[in-house]
Amino acid sequence: MQQRSICVFCGASDGVKDSYGAAADRLGTLLAENNLRLVYGAGDVGLMGRVARAAQMAKGTTFGVIPQHLVDWEVGKTDLTTYVVTETMHERKKVMFMNADAIALLPGGAGSLDEFFEVLTWAQLGLHKKPIVLINTLGYWDPLLALVDHVIAEGFAKGSLKNFFKIAASPDEALSLLR
Ligand code: AMP
Repeated sequence: MQQRSICVFCGASDGVKDSYGAAADRLGTLLAENNLRLVYGAGDVGLMGRVARAAQMAKGTTFGVIPQHLVDWEVGKTDLTTYVVTETMHERKKVMFMNADAIALLPGGAGSLDEFFEVLTWAQLGLHKKPIVLINTLGYWDPLLALVDHVIAEGFAKGSLKNFFKIAASPDEALSLLR
């Protein structure tokens, strides 16, 4: 069977708790062990670097996409199985999305939020049916989940918005949800 790919959105920073990095390590390892290709932003910093290094350590296949202007800042990881350099951020997101069968969100910052909401809104608009799973390490995303509830309660989204993504407490649970 053709290898499936999981696009991982996560922080270019490490975050303040060790568990965030540990979750990135675990996800990278699990992807490799389950013959799933990692698709991500090709950086070697923060959780991005952790997830990629863990996948490589476990002999996994990695596919990274980075825009030229971030190659120095995010330390483009040129030793990936496939390393793609784009001209723009929009191209980066497009190439990542097109090469993925499903999306996983680890803890991250504004960039991860942008990426998550883009795939979520596209799902809401019926533009794709790729599964999206939010990995809620140590409840990191609880405020985001509360915001989604608030948006629904105040009448700016249908309750069905919550049907477009799943919530996992850990990378292991995320993998079972994606199966
Ligand atoms: P962050 O979650 O802010 O640490 O960013 C995670 C990744 O998202 C990094 O590779 C950023 O370059 C990327 N990123 C930041 N802003 C955006 C954006 N507007 N669209 C897509 N990716 C972004």
